[in-house]
Amino acid sequence: MCGIVGFVGRQQAAPILLDGLSKLEYRGYDSAGVAVVSPDGGIEVRKAKGRLQVLSDLIHGGADMDGRIGIGHTRWATHGAPSDVNSHPHVSEGGKFAVIHNGIIENYVEIKEFLIRQGVHFQSETDTEVVAQLLEFYYNECRDFFEAVGRVLRRIEGAYALGMLCADCPDRIIAARKDAPLLLGYGEGENFIASDVTALLKYTRDVAYMEDGEVAVLTTEGIKVFDALQQPVEKERHHVDWEAAAAEKGGYPHFMLKEIFEQPEALRRAISPRLKDGRIVFDDMKLTPERIRALSRVFIVACGSSYHVGMLGKYTLEHLTRRSVEVCLASEFRYADPIVDGNTLVIVISQSGETLDTMAALREAKARGAYVLSIVNVVGSSIARESDDVLYTWAGPEIAVATTKAYSTQLAVLDMLGLAFGEALGTVDAAEYAETVRELEKLPEKLETVLAHHEDIQKYAAEHFNHNSIFFIGRNLDYALGLEGSLKLKEISYIHSEAYASGELKHGTISLIEEGTLVVALGTYGKLFDKAMSNVVEVKARGAEVLALTTESRREERQKTVPNVLAVPDTADMLLPSLGVVPLQLFAYYVALQRGCDIDKPRNLAKSVTVE
Ligand code: GLU
Repeated sequence: MCGIVGFVGRQQAAPILLDGLSKLEYRGYDSAGVAVVSPDGGIEVRKAKGRLQVLSDLIHGGADMDGRIGIGHTRWATHGAPSDVNSHPHVSEGGKFAVIHNGIIENYVEIKEFLIRQGVHFQSETDTEVVAQLLEFYYNECRDFFEAVGRVLRRIEGAYALGMLCADCPDRIIAARKDAPLLLGYGEGENFIASDVTALLKYTRDVAYMEDGEVAVLTTEGIKVFDALQQPVEKERHHVDWEAAAAEKGGYPHFMLKEIFEQPEALRRAISPRLKDGRIVFDDMKLTPERIRALSRVFIVACGSSYHVGMLGKYTLEHLTRRSVEVCLASEFRYADPIVDGNTLVIVISQSGETLDTMAALREAKARGAYVLSIVNVVGSSIARESDDVLYTWAGPEIAVATTKAYSTQLAVLDMLGLAFGEALGTVDAAEYAETVRELEKLPEKLETVLAHHEDIQKYAAEHFNHNSIFFIGRNLDYALGLEGSLKLKEISYIHSEAYASGELKHGTISLIEEGTLVVALGTYGKLFDKAMSNVVEVKARGAEVLALTTESRREERQKTVPNVLAVPDTADMLLPSLGVVPLQLFAYYVALQRGCDIDKPRNLAKSVTVE
C-alpha cells in the first residue's frame, strides 16, 4: 500500500527520503510527509496532500530540513480522507514522537477513546495517530523509547509496518512489523528502512527482511533486531541484484500478476478488522438495524467486474436476507426510470470511486430518495463522499487495468454485508452464519494455497491460448463467477468469450459448440454439482474440450468425466467464488502472456472510466 522510507546516517536525511519515496510513487499515492530529528533538538515534520512533488517543492527537494535521521511516507488513505492533517508522519501531542505507518490499526477506536479519557487531544482522523499518542503516553510512564514501543505493540491489533522517531533519542529510528512489508538496508555508516526494496537500490543492495513481531533499532553504528519477546535476533542478509525497473513491480513481470498475488494480503485487510468474536461488525456503518428492517427494495448498481460482484451478491444477499435484490448495470439504471423510494437501499460498487456511470446512478438514486451505501477502494473518492455510507475495501492501489484484488475484496465486503443484514433481519441460519464467519477468517490462507498451484494453470494456458472462442459455463454462483472469468479473458487476451448459465446453453448457444471448442466448466457450487455435470456431458458430446474447475472434495468425481480438472479448497458455499476466481484470473493472465498482449494496459481500456 503506502511507501515507507527511513534513514540514519551522516548526510542530510530529507533529500534521501524524498528520493526513496519517489521510487514508490508509481503506486499512486495521495499525500506525502517527512520527519527529521532536528540538530537543535526536537522533531521537524513537513507534509502535504497530493503528489510527492508538492512536498518536494515545499521543502526545496529536502534542502530546507537539516536533520541526518528521518522517516518519510507516501500515504494511501484507509482511515480519513487524503488531507494535509491526515498525512503521515503523525506527531504525538507533546511533540516527542513521530510515526509513519503502513496498514490498519484495527482497535484504534478503543485506544483513541482511552487516550481521550486521559486528556490526549487528537489532530487527525487516522488510525495511525493512536500509535504516536500511545507511544508518548507509555513513554511518560517508563522514559524508555524501546520499552514504550514494546508496550504499544502489545496493545495494538491489526497490520503494521511502523517507523518511529523520539526527540529524546535523537540517534535512532525504531521500526516494527506485523503483516505489512518492511525491510532493513545496511550501508556504510548509514542504515535504512523501506517498505519496498526499490527505494533503497541507489544506496544499498544489502538488505534483510523483517519478520512479523520483530522490532529493529537503527543507528549509524548498525541495526539491532529483536523478536516479540525482546530477544536479539540474527538477521540473514540478502544481496539484491535486481534492475530498478523490475523491482518497481516487486519483481513481478506485470502489475496484474503482482496484484493477483497480493490478494491474500488484501483480503486480510478487508476482512480481519470486521470480524469480532465470531461476528461481522462494520464499525463505521451508519445504517441501523431498524433501517435495514424497514427496507422494501435493494439494488446493487455497478459496472464491469464490480457488476459481476453484484451478480454474486444477488444470490448471496437474497439467500441470507430473504429480500429481493436487483442487480443493475449503472449505465442502464440511471435511464431506466428505476422504482426507488425512501425505503430503497442502493448498494453501489466501484474500485476507483470515480466511475462516471456509477456516480451518475448514485445521484439518480439519491435524487429519488434512496439510501446509498457504497463499496469503494479509494478513500475520499467522489462516490465515497456522496454516499450515505461507505465501506472501504482496503485493497491498496490497483494499477493493472484488469481488476483482480479490487474484485476479491469487493466480494468479501459484500458477502460480509449480506451476513450482517441477515443477522439484523433474523433471516440467516445461525449455524451457517458461524461457519461462514469461520471460513472468512481462513479465506486468505486458502487463497494462498490456490496461488501456490499457479503453474498448473500456466500449463493449461500454454495448451489453450490459441482458441478463437472460449465458453464459461456454470450454475448459480458458478454462473456469476463465469461472467468474471470470461471478462478477464476478453479484456487482456482479446479472445472472444461467452459466459453462460449451464442450463441455458441448450436454449440457443450450444449451436456454437463444435469439435475442439474450449469450454471452461465451473462446478464449485456443491448443491448443483450433478446438474452442472450433466451440462458438461452435453458439450463434450458435441466435441468440446473441457477444462473443469471444482473443489478438492469433488476433484476425483469430476475427473471421471473430465481429465483436466483444477480444484480449489472447499469452503462455505457463498465464499467459493472468492477462491474460484483466482484460477480464472491466472488463466486469463497466462493466456494473454502466451499471446504477447500488453497485459497491464490492454487496448481500448482505461483504469478509471470517467466518461459516460
Ligand atoms: N491506515 C493508515 C492511514 O489511513 C495508513 C495508510 C497507508 O498504509 O498508507 O493513514
